[in-house]
Amino acid sequence: MQFLQDLSLDELQQIIVELGEAKYRARQVYDHIYLGKTIDEMSNIPQALRDKLHEQFWDEPITIHTVVESADGTKKFLYKLHDDNLIEGVLMRYKYGYTLCVSCQVGCAMGCKFCASTLNGLIRNLSAGEILGQVLTVNRYLHGTSRDRAITNVVMMGSGEPLANYDNVVKFLRLVTSPDGINVSPRNISVSTCGIVENIDKLAQEGLPITLTISLHAPNDKIRRQLMPIANKYTVHQVVDSAKRYVKVTGRRVVFEYALTHGVNDTAECAEQLASLLRGFQCHINLIPLNEVRERNLKTVTHKSAVDFCKKLSSLGLSATVRRTMGEDIEGACGQLRNKVIKGINE
Ligand code: SAH
Repeated sequence: MQFLQDLSLDELQQIIVELGEAKYRARQVYDHIYLGKTIDEMSNIPQALRDKLHEQFWDEPITIHTVVESADGTKKFLYKLHDDNLIEGVLMRYKYGYTLCVSCQVGCAMGCKFCASTLNGLIRNLSAGEILGQVLTVNRYLHGTSRDRAITNVVMMGSGEPLANYDNVVKFLRLVTSPDGINVSPRNISVSTCGIVENIDKLAQEGLPITLTISLHAPNDKIRRQLMPIANKYTVHQVVDSAKRYVKVTGRRVVFEYALTHGVNDTAECAEQLASLLRGFQCHINLIPLNEVRERNLKTVTHKSAVDFCKKLSSLGLSATVRRTMGEDIEGACGQLRNKVIKGINE
């Protein structure tokens, strides 16, 4: 069975007409969906139609299970899915509005050595409506509507690998940017990938002016393979070449993520290799001091050495910044809160 949130307005209209109802009912139902409402809350929809919708669809992809607030105002959400799986999201407040970090899979198959989301492997993909449900539920939680959005920006940096759940992620991107719904500007959306080359090329052809973020984390194959199993499939050069093709096709700048890990990828030599890899390419490097994960033995860097690494990149002609870490006191890194709660449940 599908979620109502999986549907575009056109798809819903077709279904409503097939159910023998007037077409305008689809618009009414759609407006409720985008306010984060359930079928039973659709007060201007006749009970007979609500019953028919109940027979064909689930209406509540996500419910908020726990909210934890950080000292810096960042909120971490733990959501419960229809099948009782748990996923998480992070809400960050900026001057211009709220950015919501969404998940696209329960768990993750990619196995990155620093990441908590992948510790128990992949459980399942999320549908487009389950990804959208995160945005609609938190927008409602913040008293936002479609016209007066509380959430202005979306980053796909929660658990899961977006380009390993390609069709659902692209459908989500079309739904969340559609003027029929919550109408988030594609320019305010970032999709982060560990670098699945074929799907970077595919995404470039979708006509979606989002920002592509690639988790590079190393300047060469030797170090990247220590951190990311996907590096055994694609070389650093293949990943960077696909990023260059992406920029050529879309005209959008690409961002590289680089989690600074003490003694692994933070040396002056790494900065120099990174500079020769990326010099002259229209990109930005986001340096993130590693968020240490209890189950992993990788160590983070001091703020000073992150700044020094950044200065070195800048002096070598690259555009780089150190990302402000937010929500560290609330298990901010991907998958950390979920793991803690699951452990607590199992103990
Ligand atoms: N699968 C996607 C999204 C992952 S999460 C990807 O690989 O890009 C978003 C970003 O957080 C990625 O760059 C990921 O590598 C990074 N990340 C995951 N765990 C981290 C940690 N413990 N510390 C710092 N960055 C981390």
